[in-house]
Amino acid sequence: MDKLEDKSANKENKNCSNSSEIEHTCPICIHLLIQPIITPCKHAYCLKCYEECSELLVKNICPMCRSPIPKDFNPIVDKDYAKKLVQLFPKETLEREKQLEELKLLEKEFLKLKLNFGNTHAIVPHPKKEGETSHRWRAHLRIENLTDEQIQEYIQYVEFELHHTYVGEKKIKKFKAPFELERLAWGYFNLPIKIFFKDIVESEPIVIDHMLCFDGDGITNNQIVKIKLKKVEQDKEKDKNRGKGKSSKNVLKDSNK
Ligand SMILES: [Zn+2]
Ligand SMILES: [Zn+2]
Repeated sequence: MDKLEDKSANKENKNCSNSSEIEHTCPICIHLLIQPIITPCKHAYCLKCYEECSELLVKNICPMCRSPIPKDFNPIVDKDYAKKLVQLFPKETLEREKQLEELKLLEKEFLKLKLNFGNTHAIVPHPKKEGETSHRWRAHLRIENLTDEQIQEYIQYVEFELHHTYVGEKKIKKFKAPFELERLAWGYFNLPIKIFFKDIVESEPIVIDHMLCFDGDGITNNQIVKIKLKKVEQDKEKDKNRGKGKSSKNVLKDSNK
């Protein structure tokens, strides 16, 4: 029996004799594919890499060949391919799995913010001069993966810094989502959008540089940033997770300590 298995393993290796690690490398992380997914255009990525990359892209396209990817495409691990990778590179896949686990642990200390920022632009009737028009821009910062309550929990305020030629206060603070700023004016300038966090966040304020756009309807951009939570908050999160598996008795016992 052992012999038979050995034979089939050899056959498998022969069939894939020209398979090199390079051939099975993820084009995003440039490492051996782990939890591979295959797009409809037949490109393979690590599931994690693909998900992170598509979060960043405005349009859903293949990062390699730029073919559009249907909205209903559900990236799931190709189990047969994953198996094949384990057969071809047993040591390497084990190592990659370990890396992935470590990364997951590390990520627990961080909170990922999916930012969408930009400005709209419209030509509107001039408020004072009849028959004339004016430009209206409205800048925004949205945190797409958090609810308004979560935003309130983590973010102290968002500050938009106007160009020095604007009349009045230049640093405009917005304490509640949606974080938006609107002006009637025309003129390209870099509008820094600063995110200030509450005490529970360890990270320094984040600055996003947005160049105001007056072409057509305006522009939006996506960016993912990671913020570090203070130790206490991390423990709270851990407790929450631990609590899930506990019986109510145990929870009671803990609170009596
Ligand atoms: Zn990858
Ligand atoms: Zn492709």
